Amino acid sequence: MSRIYLDHNATTPVHPAVLEEMLPYLRDVFGNPSSIHWFGQEARQAVDRARQRVADLIGAEPKEIVFTSGGTEAINYALRGAVEQYAENSRQIITSPIEHQAVLNSCGYLEDRGFQVTRLPVDEYGAVSPESAADAITGDTVLITVMLANNEVGTIQPLTEIAGVAKERDLLVHTDAVQAVGKIPLNVQQLGVDLLSLSGHKFYGPKGIGALYIRRGVNVAPLIYGGHQERRRRAGTENVPAIVGLGKACELAGEELEDSAARVAALRDRLEEGILSQIPQTQLNGHPENRLPNTLNMSFSSVEGESLLMNLDLLGIAVSAGSACAAGAAEPSHVLTAMGIDPEQSQGSIRFSLGRGTTEADVDATVKALVEVVGKLRELSPLSADPDAGNQRSGG
Ligand code: PLP
Repeated sequence: MSRIYLDHNATTPVHPAVLEEMLPYLRDVFGNPSSIHWFGQEARQAVDRARQRVADLIGAEPKEIVFTSGGTEAINYALRGAVEQYAENSRQIITSPIEHQAVLNSCGYLEDRGFQVTRLPVDEYGAVSPESAADAITGDTVLITVMLANNEVGTIQPLTEIAGVAKERDLLVHTDAVQAVGKIPLNVQQLGVDLLSLSGHKFYGPKGIGALYIRRGVNVAPLIYGGHQERRRRAGTENVPAIVGLGKACELAGEELEDSAARVAALRDRLEEGILSQIPQTQLNGHPENRLPNTLNMSFSSVEGESLLMNLDLLGIAVSAGSACAAGAAEPSHVLTAMGIDPEQSQGSIRFSLGRGTTEADVDATVKALVEVVGKLRELSPLSADPDAGNQRSGG
């Protein structure tokens, strides 16, 4: 069976050029970057080159990049480390309710230790307003953390404005940019953030590698203690092949981003139009324009998202119901709930996330399969709605 992969927000295949670049570091170049001899220095140079490439992609200096084991570690390090460093007198953290579990649960951990966590509301599209951030700031606020782009619906936050509000009050700003890096152009200077988390496997790099950008002059207490690696900010012998892969993925993202974003957005729009025009009672979740170019989240009324996912999987099409990390959970998506979407609509939601391998034929085959599967599931559903009812374009 030929398979169609539309779950690139969960993870992406490793780019062939990334694999090529990594292979020598798995096979031949085995030195420890901390060793002074030739073997060590060969590995050290590769790590330095990768650090430069990561920095170049986001408009940072190489010294501002710390390699981590992925997005989750970068986020834990940013939030717990910044709070430990700066929160002597400040006890409030501001965030949003639509963050990834890595942020939600790091904030929960801090909340259990006595910090006050303020969760800003989001609108029907999943956007946080800079005004609500300004209103939430108190004399006790230490940090604002708001994701740059949401993993489930793709909505892009007005982060420059939110960071602007924070800067007026001299507060730290972290953003989880795990879904944004490699998909939209971004620059830490323009965003005005102090801390930014990214992850290799979301943009054709290997799994288990990520980075935290830490603006020069900002100090973050380490999460992991041990040797002197990463200028004492993250101990442990570096995962050289993965770091090399992340560096190459960043270089490719910088070169290909503009073309690939336009191509993938056209395919995403084709998928959306196909669904809206051929399947009644479907609804777009998330912002219709201000969203990631590869992401489409749709609700199909009277259908369980999980059943739809499994039926599509049987036809060789991989999608996600809610976020990958929440898959299997019976509760409706916390993102859609925060956007004010009712539980029934939320349960019938599917995320399609396209990527560099997606073709027009994939999109057309997916629409065809959806027409068939949604029709079949609705026939079986006791909730089945009036088939003549129309569609809606916006979330809420
Ligand atoms: N943040 C967001 C928005 C994500 O989508 C993910 C992964 O799904 C993460 C953080 C965690 O990244 P990692 O898988 O590298 O730990």
